[in-house]
Amino acid sequence: MDYKKYITVVDDWPKEGIKFKDITTLMDNGKAFKSAVDEIVAYASDLEIDVVVGPEARGFIIGCPVSYALEVGFAPVRKEGKLPREVIKVDYGLEYGKDVLTIHKDAIKPGQRVLITDDLLATGGTIEATIKLVEELGGIVVGCAFLIELTYLHGRDKLKDYNVLTLMQY
Ligand code: 5GP
Repeated sequence: MDYKKYITVVDDWPKEGIKFKDITTLMDNGKAFKSAVDEIVAYASDLEIDVVVGPEARGFIIGCPVSYALEVGFAPVRKEGKLPREVIKVDYGLEYGKDVLTIHKDAIKPGQRVLITDDLLATGGTIEATIKLVEELGGIVVGCAFLIELTYLHGRDKLKDYNVLTLMQY
């Protein structure tokens, strides 16, 4: 499917010079959204996934329907102060800013096979930080799936050792 026609590119948001890729117009279209989720599920179905992990907030939107279809759990990665129990944390750099990501300490058991999902791969900072959290807990990152890849930001350079799927490239 040509998913790009469902993405709205918003100029100068959230800052001047950024061309934000808005996925809500893809989510609005039930058939396009289902097709995108189904493609990620098909990609993951050979990978023997134990847990899907997604960073807030749009990683939840992609990861939860994928985990539901695969009949495996979903573990949220969140900004500091949002998860209620014991967490591990990592600092990371964004396309626009800096932050801390956390995951519950018991979200992944050592040796579990993990699929990480997010809406978009830009510089790769978010996925790199999420991988660090998963690996610190002993998880094995066997796949990373995104709707969109901004190839000009070279996020893939940070993912050379990983299996990556992106459905659209800009
Ligand atoms: P990175 O850490 O790879 O530089 O940035 C990716 C993260 O920032 C993702 O979690 C994604 O949700 C968010 N992000 C950055 N730019 C965009 C964009 O243009 N559109 C959307 N939907 N998310 C973006």
